[in-house]
Amino acid sequence: MNYQADVCIVGAGPAGALLSYLLVKKGLSVILIERNATLGQSFRGEHLNEEGEAVLKSHQLFEAVESLGLLRMEKLEYYADGNAFKTVFPNDSVGHLGIHVPQANLLKGILQKAQPFSHFTCLLHTKVTELIEAETGHYRGVIAISNGTTIKIDSQLIIGADGRYSTIRKAAHINVQKHKHGFDLLWAKIPAPSGWEPSIKMALIGDKQLSLFTQVGGFIQIGWNIEQGSFPQLRKQAFTPFIQQLTTQFPALSDTVNEHIRSWKDFVLLDVFSCHSNCWGTKGLVLLGDAVHTMTPTGAFGLNSALKDADCLASLLDKESLTNFDVQKFQHMREQAIEDVLAVQVEREQTFSAHFVNRAS
Ligand SMILES: Cc1cc2nc3c(=O)[nH]c(=O)nc-3n(C[C@H](O)[C@H](O)[C@H](O)COP(=O)(O)OP(=O)(O)OC[C@H]3O[C@@H](n4cnc5c(N)ncnc54)[C@H](O)[C@@H]3O)c2cc1C
Repeated sequence: MNYQADVCIVGAGPAGALLSYLLVKKGLSVILIERNATLGQSFRGEHLNEEGEAVLKSHQLFEAVESLGLLRMEKLEYYADGNAFKTVFPNDSVGHLGIHVPQANLLKGILQKAQPFSHFTCLLHTKVTELIEAETGHYRGVIAISNGTTIKIDSQLIIGADGRYSTIRKAAHINVQKHKHGFDLLWAKIPAPSGWEPSIKMALIGDKQLSLFTQVGGFIQIGWNIEQGSFPQLRKQAFTPFIQQLTTQFPALSDTVNEHIRSWKDFVLLDVFSCHSNCWGTKGLVLLGDAVHTMTPTGAFGLNSALKDADCLASLLDKESLTNFDVQKFQHMREQAIEDVLAVQVEREQTFSAHFVNRAS
C-alpha cells in the first residue's frame, strides 16, 4: 500500500506529536508513524518543566492534556537521615515546581486536536525501516512495516522524531557524538502511602542522587543513580542492604517499598548517555528531539526540549518552504539552547552532592 503526504513524521513521541498538530493546523498534510500499537507506550520522561508547559499553553493544548490528568509538584525536599533538611517552594507566579504528565495523556491530549483534520493520518504499529532516496540525492519517502505488511510513504519532507536510537538518523548516515556521564539509572514505580503530597524528594546515597517524584494516580517514581556500568556486579550482591539505603532515607516508604520492590528485577535499568549531532538534517530530511540531541534525565529537560524543537520547526515550515527547506536555519535557532541545556545537566550532576553539605543551612 502507498501513502502520500506533504510531511512524513517518524515517531509519535512528544516532538512528533506536537509537530504533527502544528503542521496540520497550518494546512500541511501529515502522516505520523509510530512503531508501538498504542501512544505513550515507550518508557520515557514524564516531568514537564515551565518551558514545556509554556509551549503547550501557547498552542491552547494545556487544558486538553490537563483534562486527561496531570499533577503539579508543590515542593522539592532534600532528605538526610530520614528527615527533610531543606525545602524549596515554587514562586508565587508559577505556583508549582514542574508537573507530572503521564506520556499517554500528553500525547493523546495533543493528537486528539490533530485527529479532526482530514489531512492528518496516524499509523500506529508501523515501524519505519528505510529511507527512499531520489536520483537527485533528496530523500523523498520511507519504507515501513505496518502490521506485517510493507508500505511506502512518499513525502516532500521526512522528519526523524524517532528518539535516542533514531532509525532515520542512522539511515541518513548522520553521526552523533555520544557522552557517558558516569552513572546509570535504576527506575521503579510504587504506590504512594496515603497522605503523600505531590512533591519531588531527593537524597544522597554514597555520592549518587536518589530522587522520588509523585505521580498521577497515587504513585511514586523512583530514580536512583548508580555507578556507570555497575549494575551487572551490583545485582550479584544481596538486595536487602541495597534497598535499605532507600528506606533509611525515607522511612515513611518502608511498607510500600518492602511490598513492591523485592528484588533487583523490580528495577528497570536506563543506560544514561547524552549525544548531539552537528548535522540536524540534509536534503529533504530533518531531525529533532532526542533523535538529534539525547539528554540525560537530570533536570527533566529532554521532553521540554523536544516540545520546543517542534514549536520552532513548525514556525519555519509551510507549503512554500517544504521542497527546499533550510534545515540549517532550524539548527541555528535551536542548537545553542540545546548546548546550554547539556552544559547545565553536567553542572547539576557534578554539584548535586553540594546540596548536602552544611545541612542546617
Ligand atoms: C527513563 C527516562 C526518563 C526521563 N525523564 C524525563 C523527564 O522526567 N522529563 C523530561 O523532560 N525528559 C525526560 N527524559 C527524556 C525524554 O523522555 C525525552 O527527551 C523525550 O521523550 C524526547 O522526545 P522525542 O519525541 O524526541 O523522542 P521519544 O520520546 O523517544 O519518541 C520517539 C518515538 O519514536 C518511536 N519510534 C522509534 N523508532 C521508530 C521507527 N523506526 N518507526 C516508527 N516509530 C519509531 C518510538 O516508539 C517513540 O514513540 C527521560 C528519558 C528517559 C529514557
